[in-house]
Amino acid sequence: MPCLFCKIIAGEIPSKTIFEDDLTYAFRDINPQAPSHVLVVPRKHIASLAESGPEDEALLGHLHLVAARIAASEGLSDGFRTVINTGPDGGQTVDHLHVHLLGGRSMHWPPG
Ligand code: AMP
Ligand code: ZN
Repeated sequence: MPCLFCKIIAGEIPSKTIFEDDLTYAFRDINPQAPSHVLVVPRKHIASLAESGPEDEALLGHLHLVAARIAASEGLSDGFRTVINTGPDGGQTVDHLHVHLLGGRSMHWPPG
């Protein structure tokens, strides 16, 4: 059953593409929380980090390497933040695993 991000990956819902390869698709968040806010999404539908399995180990690493590469291309030389929200308490609103890449401003800790 196609989810929002599966539809975006399939091109059925428009998005601003930042990067894509055979495993991942990255696009600008529609409601940016920082000057640069990109979502890095696996083409494979995985509902959340909690739903991932050992077969996803390399894919999870690849998502982060892609995020770092995009951070460099976005000019985030002063740093950036990557976030995976998981489940209701984690603030996840789209049930397709994704890495948030946020940068272009100073981040705060702890997060809200
Ligand atoms: P999360 O709350 O961690 O599940 O993140 C979901 C993210 O998807 C939020 O930051 C939303 O702003 C973003 N989002 C929702 N719909 C779209 C869309 N159509 N295009 C781009 N980003 C979206
Ligand atoms: Zn999906």
